[in-house]
Amino acid sequence: MTPANVLVLAIDAASPALLEEWAADGTLPNLRGLMARGLVGRTRNVDGFCIGSTWPSWYTGVTPARHGLHYLVQLRPGTYELYRPATEGLVKRDAFWSHLSRAGRRVAVLDVPVSAIDRSLNGVQTVEWGGHDAVFGTQSHPANLAGRIVSTFGAHPLNTPCDEIGRTAKDYRSFVANLVAGVRSKTDWTLDLLGQGGWDFFAQVFTEAHCAGHQCWHLHDRTHPAHDSLVAKEVGDPLRSVLQAIDAGIGRIVEKAGGARVMVLSLHGMSHAFGAHFLLRDVLIQLGVTRPLPKAPQATGFASAATDGLRAVWRQLPHAVRDRVAPIRDRFHARRASSPAIRLDVDTTQSQCFPHNNGLAVAGVRLNLAGREPQGMLDGELAAQAFEDQLSRDLLDIIDEHSRRPLVKRVLRTRDHYSGEHLNLLPDLLIEWNDAVAIGSTSIGDGKAATVRAVSPKIGVVTGTNSYGRTGEHRPDGLFLATGPGTSGRSLSDSVSILDFAPTFATLLGATLPESDGAPIPALIDAWR
Ligand SMILES: [Zn+2]
Ligand SMILES: [Zn+2]
Repeated sequence: MTPANVLVLAIDAASPALLEEWAADGTLPNLRGLMARGLVGRTRNVDGFCIGSTWPSWYTGVTPARHGLHYLVQLRPGTYELYRPATEGLVKRDAFWSHLSRAGRRVAVLDVPVSAIDRSLNGVQTVEWGGHDAVFGTQSHPANLAGRIVSTFGAHPLNTPCDEIGRTAKDYRSFVANLVAGVRSKTDWTLDLLGQGGWDFFAQVFTEAHCAGHQCWHLHDRTHPAHDSLVAKEVGDPLRSVLQAIDAGIGRIVEKAGGARVMVLSLHGMSHAFGAHFLLRDVLIQLGVTRPLPKAPQATGFASAATDGLRAVWRQLPHAVRDRVAPIRDRFHARRASSPAIRLDVDTTQSQCFPHNNGLAVAGVRLNLAGREPQGMLDGELAAQAFEDQLSRDLLDIIDEHSRRPLVKRVLRTRDHYSGEHLNLLPDLLIEWNDAVAIGSTSIGDGKAATVRAVSPKIGVVTGTNSYGRTGEHRPDGLFLATGPGTSGRSLSDSVSILDFAPTFATLLGATLPESDGAPIPALIDAWR
């Protein structure tokens, strides 16, 4: 008997191109072997929602307009209040594994990001033993499982959020060592649970690739503006180290899984950080559609001059000195960067619209609609539509002064693309930043390319500087491969929506989803039946 019928091993947020390249050249030998005998395809995310909502869309099989989570900080409808959905049950639809469980299947769901514990599950679940963007802390079902894992295998060796790591070569080395050790330890306890046997569905997610991608893209990518060849030489390529560790873990787990139907999955991708989320508010103000709050008494004249002065001094320090001072500086920067504003920083009595948190790759804008918002200014569908059309044109007109390319790639009107009972939770417009040019950060290296000058006839010049320490950012495409009795080194020509996986697992394992925005993947059903 095989220990599991369906085994899903996810590499969270790894670049699909990198996985393919490193499988092909033998850097990732286990992935290479699985690809050679499996069915390989690309995945595509829900348009405009490829950051906080990726995993919830995957495990519910519906878009954020139905499961209600588009980002980890949301606006409460009918108010201007921001809240964290994790404090309120996270999503409003059940995961496919809850349906499998109700149909009598025995499931193990381990460390799926942005998921909540289902106490009724027929099987086991863990969240955030190791997790990027952890929202709950380590929890499990049954409740004592987490304690047993920690007492037997230890806690994850990376004991701080990855945004808070230091930025010296030594810090990066220890960060990578912790991620690699975390992968090994996670592999050990995965083997332990898998070995119990009798699983109809078994999934584990290696989130270490996610942390490495966000924090270390500039060490991997030599063309990145924050690339520091001295640090990179000392640290090596963190993405390679972490993905090799995950590849080795996958090899061990697959070997133990016997004849299971195996899927390896990276739901969304990673590449250089881009965009100008940090100046969206100023652009909207400059366009005259958003009003800033009246100015608080100024304490900034001296303080900001002092900050600029310190930054200039910093850039002139020799590397060795910077290495010693950096941990102190970074602790300050990282904390600032990792605590997103939890209030709307605009005057809602005089704004026609305002920025609506949706992650860094695709910004959100919310209209201040009469009848929906407490102090709504735009009255009626026609007025809203005309306003959105004009704002879209104005945003698409903006050029990045340095590269001379458009700063915005696309503007989507959310309600033209999605429907569902929670549509009112979503931003009205989704602003896709142009990812052609990498941005730097004042928190990393010498701050090269951290300042963006946005230019258009209507806004003149709006300047903003990125201080966020992540040098890698998501891309909406991912990769999956599936091996099993009926697969053989085949590639799918069309990409598969991440919404299609939940109905596929339900169909294969004899459960019914009440509703889905996706559909079972025919090639996978054929291969796995
Ligand atoms: Zn991320
Ligand atoms: Zn992380």
